[in-house]
Amino acid sequence: MSHLPRLTFAIISHPDAGKTTITEKLLLFGGAIQAAGLVKAKHGGRGTVSDFMQMEKERGVSISTSVMGFDFAGRKVNLLDTPGHADFSEDTYRTLTAVDSALMVIDSVKGVEERTRKLCEICRMRRTPIITFLNKLDREGKDPFEVLDEVERELNLQVTPLSWPIGQGQAFKGVYNLLEDNILLFDAHATDLEAKMIDGKDLDSAEVKGHIAEHLLTKLKEDLAMIRGVYPTLNQADYLKGTISPVLFGSALNNFGVRELLNALAKYAPSAGAFATEQRLIQPDEPTLSGFIFKIHANLDPKHRDRIAFMRICSGVFEKNKLYTHPRTGKTYRTATPLAFMAQSREATDKAYPGDIIGLHDTGLFRIGDAITEGERLDFKGIPAFSPQLFRRILNKDPLKSKQFNRALTELSEEGVIQVFTTYYSKERLIGAVGVLQFDVTQFRLTSEYGASCSFEGVDFNIACWVSSPNKEAWDRFFGFYENKIALDSKERFVFLATNRWTLERTMEDHPQIHFAFTSEG
Ligand code: GDP
Repeated sequence: MSHLPRLTFAIISHPDAGKTTITEKLLLFGGAIQAAGLVKAKHGGRGTVSDFMQMEKERGVSISTSVMGFDFAGRKVNLLDTPGHADFSEDTYRTLTAVDSALMVIDSVKGVEERTRKLCEICRMRRTPIITFLNKLDREGKDPFEVLDEVERELNLQVTPLSWPIGQGQAFKGVYNLLEDNILLFDAHATDLEAKMIDGKDLDSAEVKGHIAEHLLTKLKEDLAMIRGVYPTLNQADYLKGTISPVLFGSALNNFGVRELLNALAKYAPSAGAFATEQRLIQPDEPTLSGFIFKIHANLDPKHRDRIAFMRICSGVFEKNKLYTHPRTGKTYRTATPLAFMAQSREATDKAYPGDIIGLHDTGLFRIGDAITEGERLDFKGIPAFSPQLFRRILNKDPLKSKQFNRALTELSEEGVIQVFTTYYSKERLIGAVGVLQFDVTQFRLTSEYGASCSFEGVDFNIACWVSSPNKEAWDRFFGFYENKIALDSKERFVFLATNRWTLERTMEDHPQIHFAFTSEG
């Protein structure tokens, strides 16, 4: 095929590790933007309803940064933005179902943090290959060996460094490239994008000594001996299986190490891969089109109040004006204006290939997880609902608007804004989320779009998991015992609600024949 191979990835990190900075610098080094400072500022917005309204206004901007596309080293790069701050929500998780690899950014001062842990877990579950970037080496941080130990221990991910820092903080002198045996020199005052590189094969050479102090060289020699003894060399197959992560070091703020990072992504990261469906495995080189919806954005343009569904192309070629099938409803689907995402703009596209993300105008047809095909029935796996961590009881405050209230809950749950559960016996509505802003957004949209109103009450549940059992007797016993802790999700699947992890574990021990799953797919 004549199109460039795709490199479709997302960045996973904890807030403040440097995701926005790195995104911007990747675009800069990728030639997609001419100057830094263009990627939307994410600071200031800290998760209140007014921020959400502000977000709505800025949607025109944020949508264009949802997927950033540019060409680099013979590949078309699609960098998918993952909501990272207070707007953290299931969207972040779902975005990871649409990529072929991930870039994990870790703050070298803070090490492995909570959000990284969660996102890495999703990648591990899906065996997504991960390249790691240890950022902020210009600050006094933890010992790099210690951070890598944390990654291996806490994220259960083997690592292999491709570069190694020389000094840190004030004394940060650069990184040693372990594959090419050269040294990239750090200069905090440099204004060029290109750092100076010197040969590092002989660490006693006059050139090396001219740039790096004796004690740092001694330490580097010790480190290199240790690295070569401790870490395996990079095996591409293991990286692609998601069991080993190549690691690079740098300082995104100072443009340092970013080109090397982009080169490593272009060299190692997989192009569009196969996708599992209930029916069969879809290969990217199949001639017929298939793709799935992983995210829906509502009300992008306040004048039109439309929705945009984001589709990941898995096989075939998407063409505008061609007639496709929406297998869930059996309807046909055609669009004259699919959107492709290039950095800083949305552009209309004529054709899109496996690995690409396109935006489809939606008048209410799509739900998260829906497929588009050329007629075949496909149910994509791995676009699950994730076990929510926050719950509220939602009450309809205006009985005259119960129709609007119910419609809002159905549609917001289809869009993936929240998960809706109905308790089995008392028929109460509970909503579940992974980020607290999801509740604010629900309330805001319920009022502004549906004319309904709601209030929330706290509930005593913190964990939901999907339960099933092939053993009817065991199931009946379990059900009888916990009838007031069972609810149905929007697809009428049984969910067990637990107060905390301890009670959940006790329940699991007491009922070994019941299967407990933490995603709706488990
Ligand atoms: P995000 O929350 O992960 O998107 O992180 P940002 O990119 O917004 O960065 C958080 C803060 O860390 C900002 O103040 C950045 O300027 C700063 N920062 C990012 N990269 C570096 C770096 O390499 N060195 C230092 N010292 N600060 C950095």
